[in-house]
Amino acid sequence: MTSDLAGEGSREVRLVWAQGRGGAIGRDNTIPWRVPEDVARFKELTVGHPVVMGRKTWDSLPPRFRPLPGRANVVVTRDASWSADGASVAGSVAEALELAGGERVGIIGGGEIYRLAMEFATELCVTEIDVEVDGADAFAPEITDEWALAHRGEWQTSTSGIGYRFVDYRRARQG
Ligand code: NAP
Repeated sequence: MTSDLAGEGSREVRLVWAQGRGGAIGRDNTIPWRVPEDVARFKELTVGHPVVMGRKTWDSLPPRFRPLPGRANVVVTRDASWSADGASVAGSVAEALELAGGERVGIIGGGEIYRLAMEFATELCVTEIDVEVDGADAFAPEITDEWALAHRGEWQTSTSGIGYRFVDYRRARQG
């Protein structure tokens, strides 16, 4: 089903993630690599706009980094009693998008929330990380043929020594 929000026209709903080989995005509620260039790009893509995340991703942020500064933080949970300083709470991704408002919103994970948010997304901003993650337990959503490649950067080497590249997609058609 296509949501009204996805059809709103000018609103950008941007999913932002970094994935290792095989689409791995996390292990034991952490991100299993360190690529400072990806952190910098994450900031560039999200600062100044609301961000939506799952409750587990909120928990995964070191307390000193949450709420993520310069961004309204909206957390999706099924637990109506959940609260945290600096976070707005939503019971679904659709509610989170309503609450977030604005012309652009960033959906910042994790795996469960990316999958739920795909129907609302207008843009996917992916960092491909050239690492094998043994024991990965969170994964990126499938990028189907509803998506067209908008930009594929060159492979680069991080200061941490890991290979990475930026790959962006725009919606080719509504699913
Ligand atoms: P998540 O998507 O961050 O959060 C899952 C939580 O969202 C659920 O436990 C539930 O919260 C809530 N939720 C899920 N479906 C819902 C629904 N239909 N309605 C309402 N609430 C719902 O969890 P995850 O998939 O385990 O991802 C976390 C992992 O991803 C971590 O390893 C993190 O480090 C990683 N991560 C990686 C990236 C990256 O770019 N590489 C980015 C972000 C996160 P309650 O249990 O409170 O009800």
